Amino acid sequence: MDKKALTEKAQLHLQVLCSEIGERRVGSEENRKATTYAEKVLKGSGWKTESTELSVIDWKTKGATLTCNGQSLEVFSSHYSLGCSVKGELVAINSISQLEKTDIEDRIILLYGEIATQQIAPKNFPFWNPEEHQHLISILEKGNPKALICATERNSATAGGVYPFPLFEDGDFDIPSVYMKDTEGEKLLACSGQTVELVSKAERIPERAFNIIGRNTTQSKDRIVITAHIDTKIGTPGAIDNGTGVAIVLLLAELLKDYSGKYPIELVFFNGEDYYSAPGQVKYVEQNKGRFNDLLLNINIDGAGYKEGLSCFSPFNLPENILDTLHEVLWDTPELVEGLPWYQGDHSLFLQNGCPAIAISSQWFIKNMECQELTHTPKDNLSIIHYERVVECALGIVELIRKL
Ligand SMILES: [Zn+2]
Repeated sequence: MDKKALTEKAQLHLQVLCSEIGERRVGSEENRKATTYAEKVLKGSGWKTESTELSVIDWKTKGATLTCNGQSLEVFSSHYSLGCSVKGELVAINSISQLEKTDIEDRIILLYGEIATQQIAPKNFPFWNPEEHQHLISILEKGNPKALICATERNSATAGGVYPFPLFEDGDFDIPSVYMKDTEGEKLLACSGQTVELVSKAERIPERAFNIIGRNTTQSKDRIVITAHIDTKIGTPGAIDNGTGVAIVLLLAELLKDYSGKYPIELVFFNGEDYYSAPGQVKYVEQNKGRFNDLLLNINIDGAGYKEGLSCFSPFNLPENILDTLHEVLWDTPELVEGLPWYQGDHSLFLQNGCPAIAISSQWFIKNMECQELTHTPKDNLSIIHYERVVECALGIVELIRKL
């Protein structure tokens, strides 16, 4: 297939994923449509597929309201939080030490300033969970407040380009919470000590989602595992994060369908990279427990195909022969460059299990990860995709595999 035909294919896949389907939050009907589509494409190219069911929750809200002295302030239900309808004394807290000293039982707590600068790792998130976050959660749970109101600013590094961001995004944390802009939080501070009324019409719904895996052989020793997460955050069509990654793996399904080199290929669509408990990733680690040294290499794609700049391949712990081959491919392909290391992606789970990896993304994203305002927002849509970049990534991976 020539480049033009591949570009059209990439466009088609991305049209389906990000426009016809759109937001693909874990547990939603749209998410299942996306995994069904991916499985169908794999099967159509002759791959043996495996679909693994994951028990998850979907989450919906009909909005949230907050009033104090007849004044209403703008708040949003924290994603995956329980709903509530409560009235109570407002207590404002801006640091851990203040929280430790304050009786918060049956009160409604405003978290603002220093304590609300960074998104709190979900209770059961397996790959990143700082002690101070677990500590904060445990004081709050012991304190037993009625609800939390979190006033947040922008923090691209931990919450993507979202403002305000939900401080808690955690279906395992049962204190109802809402979030608001830091500027609204300043207004709310004036209500400290008074009675406020908070309603959040959110609900958790038990649902199913699926990991999809395609294999070209039953052999598993020395396999190359190529991964992309297929889910999105709530409120985004997820074009660069990670429709392009999915499209690249779908192109590979076709480009590698007749590949019969010495290494088995496994194509994996993960469900849960942008979900509070990473269920698909946890499941995969469980299924491969004690067998990670069967893997030759992980290639993970996330954030690829951005309209500005080139695509980058970042190596992690590669054995010399694979690193040499990667350098050869990059040398022959001026539109692909070597990238700096970054860890906010599914390659991290392979690294944590001692497996070498290559992470593929857009150079622009790696450079601007801390300040970009695109991912996890409606702006991450088809208009920011460079389709040739998407195809170049797929061709670069094929070239690398053929040379190994
Ligand atoms: Zn992502």
